[in-house]
Amino acid sequence: MDVQDTERDVRVVLEGVPFRGIIDRIDREDHAVIVADYKSGKAPKKRFAGDKIRQVLLYAAAIKEADGELPSKARLLFLGQETIETEVSEETLIEPLERLKSTWDQLNVACTSNVFPTKTGPLCAWCPFVTHCPDGEEEVRQRFRGKRVRHDAPALEALSLI
Ligand code: SF4
Repeated sequence: MDVQDTERDVRVVLEGVPFRGIIDRIDREDHAVIVADYKSGKAPKKRFAGDKIRQVLLYAAAIKEADGELPSKARLLFLGQETIETEVSEETLIEPLERLKSTWDQLNVACTSNVFPTKTGPLCAWCPFVTHCPDGEEEVRQRFRGKRVRHDAPALEALSLI
């Protein structure tokens, strides 16, 4: 296996969406191209690695767009742990590319209408915008009442809950 490139800065248009990625490593193995992304943190089980796999598949799509060669595999290298690998094909790229396009379309609709729907959850308790976001504030208050928020979450002090 040869390391062909590291920290490759790729800027392309995928399905009409401007896309930029910095790809940690590109290997060449038996004449096939493999894109790899380093990950810190705990390695998830493969079935829970969906978002991360989607990201590295988009890197593969970007390399195909930039170089004209479709990588054969995409890898997530969890430092000091395991490697999660997935095959790359035109078929495996369909779902990540559709999602990218859908997210881009939603973003454009939001920018045009100036309406940005909230997506509340546990991270609202760490969000610096919580005092400007009624939905997020309500989420934190509910979690606080249900004792479902960590005592060191910054939003508790920002909302005068502690
Ligand atoms: S507080 Fe509002 S802006 Fe912040 S994460 Fe929650 S929903 Fe999103």
